[in-house]
Amino acid sequence: MRRMLPAIWEWLRSWFVQPVRPLQTIHVEELPDKLDPKAVYVLGEGKHLWFVAMLCPCGCNQVLQVSLLPDAKPRWKLIEHATDGSITLQPSVWRKIGCRSHFFLRRGLIQWCRDR
Ligand SMILES: [Zn+2]
Repeated sequence: MRRMLPAIWEWLRSWFVQPVRPLQTIHVEELPDKLDPKAVYVLGEGKHLWFVAMLCPCGCNQVLQVSLLPDAKPRWKLIEHATDGSITLQPSVWRKIGCRSHFFLRRGLIQWCRDR
């Protein structure tokens, strides 16, 4: 019986732990009125990208926008991964107001920073 326990535990755990899915990248020219919390929006026209928008991953429902324009300050670098269509933002996104979320977006996955 004792040897069985880890296997049962793993089986139970698999019911509660959801696999983490990367945010879906959506290219748009205009930001929609309602954002999908499972998506990240890349705004631009053709090769000219203006900014990236997403709902704050902490759940506070604020729309976060980071600028990709070369002369904006601060500005972020967008890396698009051709393999799965996910994106990476550099540097991290840090809200200085409200929920003060601080995270990295890497390959469509949120990686929280501890210093918030
Ligand atoms: Zn938030």
